Amino acid sequence: MKAIVVEKFGGPEVLRLKDVPEPKAGPGQVLVALKAIGVNPVDTYIRAGTYTRKAELPWTPGTDAAGFVEAAGPGAPFKPGERVYVYGAVGGVYAEKAVVEASRAFPLADRLSFEQGAAIGVPYATAHRALFQSGGARRGETVLIHGASGGVGVATVQLALAAGLIVIGTAGGPEGAAFLKSLGVSYALDHRKPGYLDDILKLTDAQGPDLIIEMLANVNLADDLRLAAQRGRIVIVGSRGPVPIDPRLTITKDLTVRGMSLWNMSEAEREHVHADLAKGLADGTLKPLIGAKFPLAEAFKAHAAILAPGARGKIVLIP
Ligand code: NAP
Repeated sequence: MKAIVVEKFGGPEVLRLKDVPEPKAGPGQVLVALKAIGVNPVDTYIRAGTYTRKAELPWTPGTDAAGFVEAAGPGAPFKPGERVYVYGAVGGVYAEKAVVEASRAFPLADRLSFEQGAAIGVPYATAHRALFQSGGARRGETVLIHGASGGVGVATVQLALAAGLIVIGTAGGPEGAAFLKSLGVSYALDHRKPGYLDDILKLTDAQGPDLIIEMLANVNLADDLRLAAQRGRIVIVGSRGPVPIDPRLTITKDLTVRGMSLWNMSEAEREHVHADLAKGLADGTLKPLIGAKFPLAEAFKAHAAILAPGARGKIVLIP
């Protein structure tokens, strides 16, 4: 079968399509024939070799995908032909097939395409954990989703709206703001426009957002501290470098600033999150949105695209 294989760390060009042996499902595992694969920013950090989690080479990237169960190993509660989405495989998922532990495969709701299935694992679980577990989001509160147009952002918007929050979202350019409006946010701001945060106090009756979900803390954390409401909470989901801040603001406003990594989620938390997501995915409240699509062989293009501005939902690879 074909798979992307990285033999040395580096730029997107190290993502090479190769012939590799087909994996086999062992006890408690399933072999999944993949129909769509989700691309996450973390795949690019690991590929570059600069991330805290180091991959062992040769390495096949990827965590999120969806497809058909082709074979179930002894004790795995799946039947051949079942549609599933997966979060994490024994090897990576940038491939035609992958073996996953049965606890990492979830039934894919009939209403969802495989591409949508490939957009669930990292983005929706991150959004869920950031909003509810780390952020303590409550109905009627105002949340600022700082970077709402990408994979995690769209998921956060949908979960926050479904939970009855007032949502302020940011995206790049007027098209980005229009895209957020189409998702139903209460207020959409263009984070490329100078002074775009000036209106936040007006939009929140001079209180500031109760909760901020931050996708690019190295750019925005100083502003988030300034804008957050008294006793506000800021959850840092993404950051690509250091940033100077005024810690005094955390004192004067009793702020909580929390980092959140999906990798730290326990097995029990993962089960709870995916069971909760299943309801929204089945009733249509949660609708993963697909941005750009690339053939698996062009994974290098997807890695360049995911770090470029102009996110509109999830980037997927088609094997
Ligand atoms: P993505 O699909 O590439 O989206 C990136 C988002 O960042 C887009 O909404 C983009 O908006 C926005 N952005 C660009 N410039 C910004 C700015 N100045 N201020 C605020 N937002 C800005 O990535 P993703 O999958 O949604 O992930 C978002 C971040 O979270 C990444 O850094 C990723 O590594 C991280 N992440 C962390 C975890 C975790 O466990 N902590 C899990 C998943 C992802 P435009 O393109 O419209 O400008």
